Parts: sequence; structure tokens; C-alpha cells
Amino acid sequence: MEIFFDYLSNISDQFIDPKKRIFFIYILISILIASLWFIFIKKLTLLESLRTIFDKKIFFSKSAKSDYKIFFINQLIMMLTSPFLVAQLTIATALYYYFHTLDWLNSGMFNQLPVNYVILLFTVFQFVLDDFSKFIIHRWMHKWPILWPLHKVHHSASVLTPMTVFRTHPIEGIIFSLRSSFTQAISISSFIFLFGSSVDLYTILGVNIFVFLFNIFGSNLRHSHIGIRYWRWLEHILISPAQHQLHHSIAVKHYDKNFGSTLAIWDWIFGSLHHSVEFETLKLGINNNKYEKNYDLKYLYFQPINEINDYIVSKLKKVKNIIMKPFLKGKYLNES
Ligand SMILES: [Zn+2]
Ligand SMILES: [Zn+2]
Repeated sequence: MEIFFDYLSNISDQFIDPKKRIFFIYILISILIASLWFIFIKKLTLLESLRTIFDKKIFFSKSAKSDYKIFFINQLIMMLTSPFLVAQLTIATALYYYFHTLDWLNSGMFNQLPVNYVILLFTVFQFVLDDFSKFIIHRWMHKWPILWPLHKVHHSASVLTPMTVFRTHPIEGIIFSLRSSFTQAISISSFIFLFGSSVDLYTILGVNIFVFLFNIFGSNLRHSHIGIRYWRWLEHILISPAQHQLHHSIAVKHYDKNFGSTLAIWDWIFGSLHHSVEFETLKLGINNNKYEKNYDLKYLYFQPINEINDYIVSKLKKVKNIIMKPFLKGKYLNES
């Protein structure tokens, strides 16, 4: 019974905790931004805007329905697995003691710096490290054949809703949860080591101010059918909702573009930046012609494991062939 209540509280936390992406205030502000965009840019009336935002065809589509189911299942899986994952505090403590063993680093070497500078530096560092680590792991998810089967679950959505952010394979969820623990631990331990105990964050409602601003300015619109585009220059710095929607496009020319989460700078540096296009010109999903299967939960949860297994087996076979080749040659030579 206790587990059931824990589960319910985990679910409700997603909507009432400002640290979570779908905190209800962020959703309300996203709706406001979308309405203003439709009214002032697309010249729709208020009623037409609201009808377009709450499009039944999107929110009751097979794809969206599978998003909702995955959300409830994954919350349960994360709740059951998180006690077994290495904790942020453990990593931070280990790193803190590791820094003491390095001769070229002195504990508290910058602790004369004014507190305000330290807090600002820490707030920026934590945000940038977090965003970069999301970018790099997302990039690996696409580029490494062993990870792509997992990430394909997210890309199998043929429409985007704010709940699509939860449409991930649970193993990808675990990878990203470990990523978060590691990046937080790295920033906290290195700052406490170098700057002393004055380390703190600039926050709003307990959230890093930059993350809060990202969430306020419509992070939920990235997974939506509302293709808000930024100016070209700004799309070099921040990923616009339409740029992430393009990341979900089925078109070959859009493959492996816009891995960024908040900052577009990483894509710009790594050569994967693509400017947004009109949302209406995009077809979303993955091109494997198994559309019905993309909404079948059994397929979404187990197919990635089968594909990874096949991949590992084929690699092992190749390694075995390479090792066995000299022996096989010798055998044939002896025979002839
Ligand atoms: Zn992706
Ligand atoms: Zn996405």
C-alpha cells in the first residue's frame, strides 16, 4: 500500500514541483506564449488559437496515448530502480577526497573571491555543465549503434506533446538520471573544494535561475505542434522549439541535427546545428514503416533489448572470427 502512495506522490510531484519539466505553472505559461504567438505572428483569433493549441487530433492520437502510458510505467520503474543507483552525494564525496590527492590543486585556493562572484560562477557552471552533458549523451544516443535502439523509443512519436519528453526507454531514463547525479556531483565537489563553503546557487523556487528561465520560456513547446521559431542569430545560441521539432523529423536531411537541450552553441561547435523550418513541412517519427508497432508498448519496451542483443552477438561473432582466423588458416593449410 505504501508503494502505491509513493507512486501517486511521484506522479503528482511531476506537476507540482518547480524542478520538474511539466510543473503546472510552466505548462500554463507555455499555453500563454503559444496563444500570443498564434495571435500576433500567425494572425489567428483567440478562439482559433486555443482550438489549435488543444487540438484533439494531437492529444488523443495513438502516439500521444502511448506517451501517457509510457509516462505512468516509467515513473514506476524509476521509483523502483532509483534506490539502487549511485547517489549524487556519494560521487561528490569521492570526488572531493580525490581532489585532495592532487598535488597541483589546493583546497580553498579561491576562497577570497567575493561571495556574489562565487554564487554567479557556480550557477553558470552548473547550468552549462548540465546542458553540455545532456548534449553529449544525446549525441551518443544517436551515433552509437548500441544506444540508438533505446533512443528510438523517443523518436517513434509521430506527434509531439509535452508528455513526449517522458517517452523514453527506461534504460535511457537510468542513463540520464546517472548523468544528472554525476554532473551535479562534479560541480558541487569542485566548487566546495576550490571556493570553500560559500558555494550556493541563484535560484527561483529552488531551481537554478537559468533552468527556471528555460522552463518559463516554453521548454514544453519543444515537444508540441507549435512551431515557434527564433531569429536566425538566436538559433545559434538557444534551441528554439521548432529546432527540436526538426530533430524529430523523418527527413534524411534532418538526421542527427540539433541534439542540444537549451543551448544551441554545442550543435554549432560540433557542426550539427540546423535552423528551424516551418512546422507544417515536417513529418515526424522514424522511418521504419512499422508505424502500428510504434504505439505497441510491448514492442517499444522489448524490441530495443532484442536489437542491442543482436548487435552484441554480431560484434562477438566478428571478434571470434578475427581470433579464430589464424587457427582456421593453419587447419586448412595442414589439410592441403
Ligand atoms: Zn534524439
Ligand atoms: Zn525530443
